[in-house]
Amino acid sequence: MSERIFNFSAGPAVLPESVLRAAQEAIWNLADSGIGVLEHSHRGPEFTKVIEEAEANCRELASIPDDYAVLFLQGGASLQFAMLAMNLLPSGATADYVNTGSWSKKAIAEAKKLGTVHVAGTSEDEGFGYIPGNDAIRWSNAPAYVHYTSNNTIAGTQWHRDLPAPSAVPVVCDASSDIFSRPIDVSKYGLIYAGAQKNLGPSGVTLVIIRKDLAERAPDTLPTMLQYRTHIKEGSLFNTPPTFGVFMIGEVFKWLKSQGGLAGVQKHNEAKAKIIYDAVEASPMFRGTARPDSRSLMNICFRGPDEDTEKRFLAAAKEARLSGLKGHRSVGGMRASIYNAFPAAGCTALANLIASFR
Ligand SMILES: *Cc1c(COP(=O)(O)O)cnc(C)c1O
Repeated sequence: MSERIFNFSAGPAVLPESVLRAAQEAIWNLADSGIGVLEHSHRGPEFTKVIEEAEANCRELASIPDDYAVLFLQGGASLQFAMLAMNLLPSGATADYVNTGSWSKKAIAEAKKLGTVHVAGTSEDEGFGYIPGNDAIRWSNAPAYVHYTSNNTIAGTQWHRDLPAPSAVPVVCDASSDIFSRPIDVSKYGLIYAGAQKNLGPSGVTLVIIRKDLAERAPDTLPTMLQYRTHIKEGSLFNTPPTFGVFMIGEVFKWLKSQGGLAGVQKHNEAKAKIIYDAVEASPMFRGTARPDSRSLMNICFRGPDEDTEKRFLAAAKEARLSGLKGHRSVGGMRASIYNAFPAAGCTALANLIASFR
């Protein structure tokens, strides 16, 4: 197939076309060096420029304060589930987690292997279809940190307010599926992490933004690669970083700047999600699964009247060249993932299908 189609995949996901074109060129010949980006030494001047620019653009986009480090790591968000607890949860202390879906549960399970976890709030009672209210969250006494998942990729819910964290307790956020989809005040966080493959680039690179003093909490016995301070000290170059992923993230940051930065991309994202939610609401056949005040702008989950109709809808979508709309295997139904790079025209195409499907 020579033409590209609308790709609603939850991750790895669609990337901006201009970024893919730049990558095509850079794989062949990076910045007129005569060597492709995949073939350059991570210590040479060409890649040094790539990683320095990527970090600078990241800092500019989110106005990241100087006392925070920006790291490009490996192992995905899933390694962060363990690594953050290894570094930030001293023995004898408790970490508080809000459980809003499958990824929160995985983060909790990893932390439990390493220390004491208190689940401060949960929406599991209603299949994770909402974000718990502030009055339903009970923090423990003096937690080492509090952790939440800002966007729940599988249930299709998203926090639309700050976590009501106890003062002076570091807030740790798994932002894998909504990072840089809207403005973010980094100074309110201790640590933000995200696998790149949803909103930032290809799989294989993980963005970590960490307040530097928190890295000093790690015990010296922790293996070197698992200490944040190693990567802070070496500027993500302790070992060979995922060079292509860093290049791609850097290109996505440039693209984000061209979209009016995070405020600009937020406007696009709100308009895009509205196209689909409006169509679902207007349809007598489909219904959204998330409570309206908790709906995600990134992952729109909806159901049909029965599984057979859903199957036929997914077949019709495929016919209309709309790919990746099947809901996560754990919840069924449909899910339209419309991260930053997903085009508005694809949202309109889906809305039209929802309206015309019989
Ligand atoms: C996809 C996802 C993960 C897992 O990311 P990996 O990079 O595959 O480890 C974790 N958290 C959230 C919210 C996700 O969407």
